[in-house]
Amino acid sequence: MLVFGGGERDCYDWRMDQQTHFGFEAMGSAEKRQRVMGVFSSVAEKYDLMNDLMSGGLHRLWKRRMINVAAVRHGSRALDVAAGSGDIAIGLLKKMGDGRVVLTDLNGAMLAGGARRMVDAGILPGRADCLQSDGTKLPFADESFDVVSIAFGIRNFVDIEAGLKEFHRVLAPGGQFICLEFSRPVLPLLGIAYDAYSFNIIPQIGEWVTGDRASYQYLVESIRRFPDQKRFAKLMGRAGFDLIRYENMTGGVVALHRGYKI
Ligand code: SAM
Repeated sequence: MLVFGGGERDCYDWRMDQQTHFGFEAMGSAEKRQRVMGVFSSVAEKYDLMNDLMSGGLHRLWKRRMINVAAVRHGSRALDVAAGSGDIAIGLLKKMGDGRVVLTDLNGAMLAGGARRMVDAGILPGRADCLQSDGTKLPFADESFDVVSIAFGIRNFVDIEAGLKEFHRVLAPGGQFICLEFSRPVLPLLGIAYDAYSFNIIPQIGEWVTGDRASYQYLVESIRRFPDQKRFAKLMGRAGFDLIRYENMTGGVVALHRGYKI
């Protein structure tokens, strides 16, 4: 099943009127959501190339580690939120052998890219569904999935805690939540080098490759505003997850969090 557009539940939400940030810029939640949509519509076509250029290919290793720790097995039902590229969904399906993955993303252009890649990999149609949806308002019944994953998506959410609660709601008891996201370098020198690289080089690469410097400026700023490893683990606990732990990758540039619904 491929649903673009129709799958998104669009109802009035008081949180949409709250003040939030788009990168370093303060703005209303509804406007942020629109701006995030704009960013990913703009970068969708060159998304994979830019990922390789910006991370020097490291994103492939980070994602591989995420797949390794994912608790999927034969017959699992997995949900990959903010699925975009489809990298995680494809990895999960390969690992589980027989099972199903649902890909959701707020942005139709990103989801279409992921769906194309699944078709090329011989997975769609058949073993996966694509559904356009906001990760904070998932159109699934309680306890529908054994694993919920999200890679480099949650920092874009207007309301991170609402997203975490929603992931907890759709997980079956015993289910696993895994989250790969940019975090805080734990080595001081690495932090300085990383800041210089991200604020000076990444927006420049974005401008050269996509002609869109602003979207990559947003990307860098959104990483700095996202809670660090420990704070994010606390938010997971507040959303109801247990047995929470995280591991740093590349000195904390990226962190992989996991937690369970007991
Ligand atoms: N998971 C993919 C990967 O790792 O390659 C894509 C990551 S991309 C950096 C971030 C994705 O989050 C985009 O596809 C964007 O549309 C999606 N996104 C942003 N806000 C979202 C929301 N509120 N709900 C669902 N997806 C969202």
